[in-house]
Amino acid sequence: MLLNKIEEIKKNIKVWKKEGLTIGLVPTMGALHAGHLSLIKKAKETCDRVVVSVFVNPIQFGPAEDYDKYPRTLEADEKLCKENGVDIVFAPAPKEMYGDGGRLSNDILTYVCPPFFYVNKLCGKTRVGHFDGVCTVVLKLLNIVQPDYAFFGQKDAQQVIIVKKMVKDLNVPVKIIQCPIIREESGLALSSRNKYLTEEGKKDALALGKILNNIKACYKKGITDSVALRETAYAYLSEKHDLEYLEFVDRDTLEDRTIADNNTVVLIACRVENVRLIDNIYLGEN
Ligand code: AMP
Repeated sequence: MLLNKIEEIKKNIKVWKKEGLTIGLVPTMGALHAGHLSLIKKAKETCDRVVVSVFVNPIQFGPAEDYDKYPRTLEADEKLCKENGVDIVFAPAPKEMYGDGGRLSNDILTYVCPPFFYVNKLCGKTRVGHFDGVCTVVLKLLNIVQPDYAFFGQKDAQQVIIVKKMVKDLNVPVKIIQCPIIREESGLALSSRNKYLTEEGKKDALALGKILNNIKACYKKGITDSVALRETAYAYLSEKHDLEYLEFVDRDTLEDRTIADNNTVVLIACRVENVRLIDNIYLGEN
């Protein structure tokens, strides 16, 4: 069932709650792919009822980012959700979520702003305000859907750490479940933004996964110095790659790791054909 209005979905949630059913929420921006479907599958396994939100959230995009051209494929998304047993697709318009606030008049919207330490690094460095927008929309969705579980991908590793922090800090009654990164056979991490890449760009984008895999292999061989590990990346980079960051942090706390250990996650952001791609790998077990 596709719903656009907050009051409509609340009515359905109320009925489910009365029946004692557990509810899972999978927040997405649509253009669904197998990565999203893995979250939906996990939600189906864990919960009695599953809600997928499809909302391209204007307040998490910077003014020079791809909000306007972000792929919007609601009809196909709804079909995929139906095929995969989703109970409700919640696809509100920006006005439904923010009234007249949001993109152009942020001053009338109350934001959730994660601690500076969490947002002043990695993606937050270039995407100023991005995680304020993410946390604000996620908290709104959690308040609307009141799920027992919410499902997020490791693909956006900084995001899931920050969302977990918000939930803990604000005592939000939900359990956050993190799901592994789904990749194409080639190794390319699935992303809605891959649609912007040409076939050649897709090949060039394989460098991200290769860099991460090679770093993990070097770590397994005993190299733990992050400077030395970072240097191994250059063998995979050419003028087609615009590397934004390649960082080593603790996978739970986001603290920098100069010496890598089994709790380290290596994160990369790199532009290929001017498409900003991110990926990451755990050096220890998943
Ligand atoms: P998005 O629609 O890009 O905002 O992503 C919605 C959710 O799907 C987020 O929790 C992402 O981390 C997750 N996700 C996106 N791509 C993948 C992937 N390749 N594997 C697993 N989860 C993913």
